[in-house]
Amino acid sequence: MTTTRGRVEDASVRAAGLSDVGRARERNEDASFVGETLFAVADGLGGHRAGEVASGIAVAEIESAQRKAGRAGSDTLLRAVQSANRRVFERAQEEPDLLGMGTTITVVAIDRGVAHLAHVGDSRCYLIRDGAITQVTQDHTLVARMVAEGKLSAEEAEVHPQRSVLTRALGAGPNVDVDTLELQLVAGDRLLLCSDGLTAVMSDDELGSAAASAADMEVTCRELIDEANNRGGPDNITVLLVDVLSAPDGRGTAAPVASSKEPAPQEERRHRRVSVRLLVWLAVVALVVGGSWAALRAWSDRSWYVGFEGTRVAIYHGLPTTIFGIDMSEVEVRTAMTASDVAPFFRLRLEEGIGARSLAHARRIVAQIPRSADGPTPTQTPTPTPTGTASP
Ligand code: MN
Repeated sequence: MTTTRGRVEDASVRAAGLSDVGRARERNEDASFVGETLFAVADGLGGHRAGEVASGIAVAEIESAQRKAGRAGSDTLLRAVQSANRRVFERAQEEPDLLGMGTTITVVAIDRGVAHLAHVGDSRCYLIRDGAITQVTQDHTLVARMVAEGKLSAEEAEVHPQRSVLTRALGAGPNVDVDTLELQLVAGDRLLLCSDGLTAVMSDDELGSAAASAADMEVTCRELIDEANNRGGPDNITVLLVDVLSAPDGRGTAAPVASSKEPAPQEERRHRRVSVRLLVWLAVVALVVGGSWAALRAWSDRSWYVGFEGTRVAIYHGLPTTIFGIDMSEVEVRTAMTASDVAPFFRLRLEEGIGARSLAHARRIVAQIPRSADGPTPTQTPTPTPTGTASP
């Protein structure tokens, strides 16, 4: 249990947080931070201990980057999250056991009565104001996307077996699309940050009434976790509450939520992919112009990568480029894995190609590819339903 009080110029807040392993997991792969004005929840994913490594790195890096930046703001917070993303990604490259690890992140930094939020994944931030609860963050999950596209109803999404499959995670690539958002706070507001271990078993309405409790904040955190455990505790549960004791008034509070996405994430993604290719291309051109076909062939012979051949995951021998229309790589191994088997947040990595030092190394990479079913909550059945209909 962590409890703090924070005062930021003309606003003051009080916070409490609690995390629990739940009833079905061996380890707690959630990480959280409760500071005076900075609050974060991260839910790690990945095999072995990778999940807790990822969430731990992310939270520590954001705390440190934010502390160095001095003050909160959407820009500094975004930089802190991008920096955390790179740390997780780089660490995953260094250790074979950690390949494919990732984490959600939901972070709030409060400055002068404004809550700056940054968010990737399906840990959530709610606002409780005047007794009403509003989900402030949008989940980056397949089902949330399907609901947005009208392919699934909100009710169907709540019980969908794939509901925890993420479309975005921190650490999946060198850059990440981050949602940022600003919230003008008023005295009496309460923010609830939580991992999906809570929201998987409690509806928004239930959360609203439980979290609006006038009891001590720590007691309320404990009650929420107890309730999730009473309902099976299928996953790690992290709950943070932030109360706004006072905030500057007079700044139009009628429309409190101003939301803004990181500018043009698509463009950034395209830009990134081009630059990877551009680098290989420039090096290839330099070698060709220098008449070093032999050097180029030697480089190509030493190179391996894992990528898609159509929709199938394959191991390639060579370089992920063509030169004068000649493919610099060929498929060495076709695996049985298809794009739909790969966790959505990891597909972009494969589209770009993951470099390997040898065929054996490439095979290890294939074995470590996170699967669709490896969402943050592999145990998809929170409570055995007594009215089961599927028994033979
Ligand atoms: Mn979780």
